[in-house]
Formats: sequence, structure tokens, C-alpha cells
Amino acid sequence: MNKTFSIAVFSGDGIGPEITAPTLDILERMAAASDGYDLRFTDAPAGASHYAKTGESLPEASMDIARASDAIMLSAMGLPDVRYPDGTEISPQIELRKALTLFAGIRPVTVKPGQKTPLNLPADRGIDFVLVRESTEGLFHTQGCGEVTNDEARETLLITREISEKLFRFTFDLAATRKKTGRGPGRVTCVDKANVFRAFAFFREIFDAEAARHPDLIADHAYVDATALWMVQKPWDFDVLVTENMFGDILSDLGAGLMGGLGLAPSADIGLEHAVFQPCHGSAPDIAGQGLANPLAMILSAAMMLDWLGLRHDNDAMVQDGARLREAVEDVVALGEVLTRDIGGTAGTKEAANAVLETLFVS
Ligand code: ATP
Repeated sequence: MNKTFSIAVFSGDGIGPEITAPTLDILERMAAASDGYDLRFTDAPAGASHYAKTGESLPEASMDIARASDAIMLSAMGLPDVRYPDGTEISPQIELRKALTLFAGIRPVTVKPGQKTPLNLPADRGIDFVLVRESTEGLFHTQGCGEVTNDEARETLLITREISEKLFRFTFDLAATRKKTGRGPGRVTCVDKANVFRAFAFFREIFDAEAARHPDLIADHAYVDATALWMVQKPWDFDVLVTENMFGDILSDLGAGLMGGLGLAPSADIGLEHAVFQPCHGSAPDIAGQGLANPLAMILSAAMMLDWLGLRHDNDAMVQDGARLREAVEDVVALGEVLTRDIGGTAGTKEAANAVLETLFVS
């Protein structure tokens, strides 16, 4: 009998439910067609609309569902008009990262040769790198409790040895897997600002110690400002980048821009026990409820989930379906016939998701 994997689903706010429904549909059909695994989805209410209704943004019952699941899918949470009494936005996704110690934020940046992008890439050049963003500390450490007086404001950056060691171990393993599967040369770049801040010299020292354990992989360093420049000038040059939380936050949106927009940018936040898979974009309230949202970032995040679950549980069928789903999305984008408005087309959410289904099951 197939193993059944339990998936907690946070369908969230704004366009969240609209992109979650077709993604679950695709996953259900893939699992039904596979004789290697089954999936069981459990709804976990949370987010800004839930807070407006109940006064709770991340109920304990939903946390319990998340903790008990094999993987967590999250679409988008937060609405600009719904805020806590101190004026900050509702963002349970950040609470989840901290509560479940999801230290490694994975942001793949992929563009196939010939695919339309905002950069005028040479026709034979594609982009295929992964940005790993530390997701539990860094400059987000004092989030919600920075000191603000009439005259000054202070936030504190925290980098710990414990999390950095886990982060770098994870990153080098990822580069080794990419090398093994032919996706990259096995190169890890530590992105920091070690020329100015002692905290980043500390970060770099821990990186170098992990690098020494991987003589078969290439390790180097780059300053964050130069990295932003090179991501535009020669993005094909990178393999795996690893960086602090705030730098990663900014660079991952630049990465999404390289791909043509947020609607194509997937992500995963991974710890030792749990992982959350979600698109990089927010709840896009400006287009919510109109059937216009691009579901592809969410579908690509689901593909990352299949890959992660498959590797973790030694389930080849899932790893293969993860790759099949990613390639189906890439084919739809490369073909360019059924694209949503954010990436230059006229299709709606349903048509874009159907194009992925057809690529998977018809062609
Ligand atoms: P957050 O702070 O929660 O990340 P944000 O304020 O950066 O959110 P988004 O909600 O990501 O903003 O939206 C930014 C812009 O991108 C909006 O104009 C939105 O309509 C557009 N956008 C985001 N996601 C999608 C999507 N999946 N499909 C189409 N357009 C999108």
C-alpha cells in the first residue's frame, strides 16, 4: 500500500484561496495517477481574514495541524487593511518560520534559454541558481519589538553559531545534490557585508569552517551590493548563494524580477523537522476575487514540496513527480500561449492551471 503523506494547507488571504484550489487539484490528480504515494490535505485556518473574524491570526489548532503534518503548503497571508493594534501587518508565515525553526529559505531562480525575461539575455543563456535565505534571525530578530523613541529607532541583527552551522550544512548539501543531478557545478557563494560589519565576518568564518568539510565543492564569497549587480549582469554565473535574512529578503525579490515577476517565483522554508512551501508573492489584494492571479508560483512551490518529501522519505515517485510538475510549468511559460496578465498574457487563473494539467496529462 502507498504511504499517505499529510499536508497542512494554509490557503490564507486575498488571492491565496484562488491559487490554492487549482494547485491541490493538480497534486490530487498526480497522486491518483501514481502508484508510489498518496496525499491527504488538512485545512489550517489562519491569516488576516481569520483574524478579522475571530481575533486570532494563527490559532493553536492550526499550529497543531502544521506540527503533525509531513509538509505545509501556504499560499499568501496578510491584508493591508487588517492590522494588529500596534499597526503591524498580520504575517503568521513569519511566526511559523520562527516557531518551527525553518532556518533555510530556498528561493530558486530559473529561466530557460529563450524564455522572455526583463533582461535581454543572450539566446543561448538560461538562469538556474538557488538563493538560500536564513529565515529565523538576522535583521528580523527584533521584528515587532524594535526600540523607537521620539529621537531614534533601533533594531538588532542577530547571527548565531547554532543556526549558521545548520544553514551552511544544509546549503552545501543542496549544492552537492545539484552537482549530483547535473543542475550545477557544485559552487556555494556566501553573500555578506564582512568588509563593514563584524557580525558578517563571524558569519563568513562559520561558512569557511563548513566549506572546509566539502573539498569536492567550490566555496567563495561576495559582498551583497556586488551580488545585486552581478545578479543583473551575469546571473548565469551563480549556483547556490547563501545569505542573511534581510539581504535574502531583498535579493529574492530581485531574483523574482529576473524570472519575469513574483507570479513565477516559488519558495520553501525548511528546518530539520518541518518545511513550508509557498510562493514568494503576497496576497495581491488589488486583483483578489477576479480570477486573474497567476497560480504558477504556487504550483512550482508544490513541485518543490514533492521533491523535498520524496528525497526525505526515499520516495522516487514523488521526486519524479516534483520534476515533472516543475518541467510542465516551465514548458507552459516557455511556450507562452497561456500566460496570465502579470507575465504578459491574457489568461486567468483557471486557464493557466489547466495549461499545466494538459501538459502533464495530455501532451
Ligand atoms: P507582501 O508584503 O505580503 O509580500 P506585497 O505588498 O509585496 O506583499 P504582493 O501581494 O506580492 O505585494 O503584490 C505585489 C504586486 O504583484 C501586486 O500588484 C499584485 O497584484 C502582483 N502580484 C503578486 N502576486 C501575483 C500573482 N500570483 N499573480 C498576479 N499578480 C501578482
